[in-house]
Amino acid sequence: MNGTAASCDLCVRIARTERGENPFSVARTTTGYVNLGDIQYHEGYTIFVAKRCVNELHELAKSERNAYLREMAVVAEAVFHAFKPRKLNYELLGNGAPHLHWHLFPRHAGDRRRGARSGVTRASAGLSPAVRCRRRKTWPGCVVAYWRPSTTPT
Ligand SMILES: [Zn+2]
Repeated sequence: MNGTAASCDLCVRIARTERGENPFSVARTTTGYVNLGDIQYHEGYTIFVAKRCVNELHELAKSERNAYLREMAVVAEAVFHAFKPRKLNYELLGNGAPHLHWHLFPRHAGDRRRGARSGVTRASAGLSPAVRCRRRKTWPGCVVAYWRPSTTPT
């Protein structure tokens, strides 16, 4: 384990999710947590955080690693169906937060480059997309709507 609830930002977020205090939380899987990105550089930007606080894939036991990767593929497919991008980009970095997490970026035709002022939606401003999803109100491409038991990883 690299971090603890006190020292790792993603562990802190997991703890908030477990207490029901993370408005960006979408789903929990066997090996991780699905969250909408705080800042929606691209509509549907999603983060899939591993339950265990490790920095590298090889630090997970083989069976856990395989399950995490399989679930990441299911999450990515759900994001793709929810947001209907022209391309879905994947990143597994961990330089800033040494806790395994995938960034899933739906890229839409005509979207702006990352960080451009215009077109950036700060999810923390007002009612977050995740909260809208929970309430099942109209938000085109709500991930929750696509997270059905038949697609839940086993
Ligand atoms: Zn952590």
